Amino acid sequence: MNETAHQDIDDIHWIMGLLQNFEVGLIVVDKNNHICLWNDFMENHSGISASQAASKNLFTLFPELPKPWLSKKIEGVLLLSNTAYISWEQKPFLFQFKSHRPITGIAPFMYQNITLTPLSSPTGQIDHIGILIYDVTDNTVAQQELQAANTRLKSLSRVDGLTGLYNRAYWQECLEKEFARFGRLQEPSSLILLDIDHFKKVNDTYGHQAGDIVIQTIADIIQQQARKTDFTGRYGGEEYGVILAGTNGANAVAFADRLRAAVEAKVMPYGEHKLSVTISLGISEITLDQGSEVEWLEEADKALYQSKQSGRNRVTLFNDSQ
Ligand code: GH3
Ligand code: MG
Ligand code: MG
Repeated sequence: MNETAHQDIDDIHWIMGLLQNFEVGLIVVDKNNHICLWNDFMENHSGISASQAASKNLFTLFPELPKPWLSKKIEGVLLLSNTAYISWEQKPFLFQFKSHRPITGIAPFMYQNITLTPLSSPTGQIDHIGILIYDVTDNTVAQQELQAANTRLKSLSRVDGLTGLYNRAYWQECLEKEFARFGRLQEPSSLILLDIDHFKKVNDTYGHQAGDIVIQTIADIIQQQARKTDFTGRYGGEEYGVILAGTNGANAVAFADRLRAAVEAKVMPYGEHKLSVTISLGISEITLDQGSEVEWLEEADKALYQSKQSGRNRVTLFNDSQ
């Protein structure tokens, strides 16, 4: 044997060694889906040895494989002599292997990217196909965790820390959207602004902490009374806004009065004290005359001012004469 032939055989030996050991699944099948190559990765993860797999039909060995789908892909690769890529986003896995890495403890299985490559014989005919299986579990889990963290962050930036209601910025976004929706659909909608009466007295008498408890308790009452479709927000220190989507002025008055009565009836224990407060409310129904959501809000604010002026612990519906 001459020097070059020796080198060729060494090369093949090395390449085979690498293919057996690298951290990617490698299968070669012929046109009839019979297995010609099955590397260590496949052995380790499937529990089926290379000698057990040799010459077996891939679909007989793995009846759970999506046969019509995969056969079509393989036919396409053979016919067009093109490589096909399948990402885990299209199909989380081809072979259902357990995920083994410690950091991927939360992934129930191995996420896989798959490549199907046409393989030509020395005569140039495409009669085999290489299937590469990449374990992308770590990346996938990291990506999913990042998405979950982003969702949590987004919701945190919408919510007021003390009360759990929407914060002012996000609530105003909701107001803007509701006004735009009215422009398209002209369905009724009402807006309530409410403010705690003589709240400074609570802070001054019992301290800021007691004030915070009152602010939280009233937020809870608002949330209990509101429907899922309503938008409840903390508009200021002890001011709140409620957007009642789909509700006309008269029904909003009924809602507001229930809220007012619930707050009036509520007793909040604080040490040996029993705190109770009342609220004043202003309502504005959405109309075609309002040029923007700012005007809608101003009308509710005027109605709230009216409630304060006329004695507090009451509900006022805005009308043009105000
Ligand atoms: P009125 O009936 O006219 O509304 O009287 P009021 O005393 O409630 O007056 P106002 O609405 O202006 O009071 C706002 C007070 O709310 C002033 C401020 O110190 C207090 N406040 C604002 N934010 C907070 C908060 O987060 N916690 C506490 N404890 N107090 C707050
Ligand atoms: Mg106030
Ligand atoms: Mg107040």
